[in-house]
Amino acid sequence: MAGKIKINTERCKGCGLCITVCPKNGIVLSKHPNKHGYFPAQANNHDCNGCAACATICPDVVIEVSREVNIVEVKEIKKQNCGIKTKINY
Ligand code: SF4
Ligand code: SF4
Repeated sequence: MAGKIKINTERCKGCGLCITVCPKNGIVLSKHPNKHGYFPAQANNHDCNGCAACATICPDVVIEVSREVNIVEVKEIKKQNCGIKTKINY
C-alpha cells in the first residue's frame, strides 16, 4: 500500500527519531533551519508504505500519514454491495 507523510517543519525539532525508524529510508534532515533554528525532517515520499512508524515515534506529533486506497478493493466492496453506493472512510 502506498503512503505519504506530511511533516509540520516549523514545529519539528530535528531530533531525527523518525529517520531511525523509517524502513524505507524515506526521511532526511533538511539543510535549512526552520524559524526556531532547528533543522527539520523532510520526507521524500518515494517509497513510503504508510506504516506510520515515524508518526508514532515523533515526540512532537508533527507527522501526518495518509494511505492510498486500493481502487480494486473499493470496486470489489461496491460489487459485494450490489451496486449500492457505500462511503468508505480510511
Ligand atoms: S509512514 Fe513508514 S515508510 Fe512512510 S515515511 Fe513514515 S516510517 Fe517511513
Ligand atoms: S521525530 Fe518528529 S520532531 Fe523528531 S525529527 Fe522527526 S518529525 Fe521532527
